[in-house]
Amino acid sequence: MEDCIFCKIIKGEIPSYKVAETGEAYAFLDIGPLSAGHTLVLPKKHIRNIFEADPKDLYPVLDLVQKIAVLMKEKLPCDGVNILINNGEAAGQSVHHCHWHIIPRFSGDGYKFPPAGSLSKEQAEEILGKLK
Ligand code: 5GP
Ligand code: ZN
Repeated sequence: MEDCIFCKIIKGEIPSYKVAETGEAYAFLDIGPLSAGHTLVLPKKHIRNIFEADPKDLYPVLDLVQKIAVLMKEKLPCDGVNILINNGEAAGQSVHHCHWHIIPRFSGDGYKFPPAGSLSKEQAEEILGKLK
């Protein structure tokens, strides 16, 4: 897609620090890393987000996500990884070419997600009533 910054990175029109590439997927270092080694993995095909994706186009991307997570653990090395994908602006997606964040974690790095909430029986039943 013409105006997409990630399509331009994949085509080499914008430089990137490439970590790995396959026929269907591309991985490069995030320019604003949340930790050392923060990598983005994305399909070469322009897919906006998970809502619009054909699952078949995602499988090869997930293959590369897993390979890079294993590589990071062994070679950085790191102690764990967070893997996340933001879908839609409400979820924090700022670049609308879907991509997985692989964020290396180091024991004692101190990064904490917000405290967990709680789930009542009524809430669980209401949600399952909508989703099932
Ligand atoms: P989102 O918020 O859409 O889930 O994540 C977009 C990510 O892309 C951000 O973490 C941001 O730092 C990264 N990013 C945005 N523009 C560029 C760029 O031109 N090059 C690189 N390497 N990363 C970028
Ligand atoms: Zn794109």
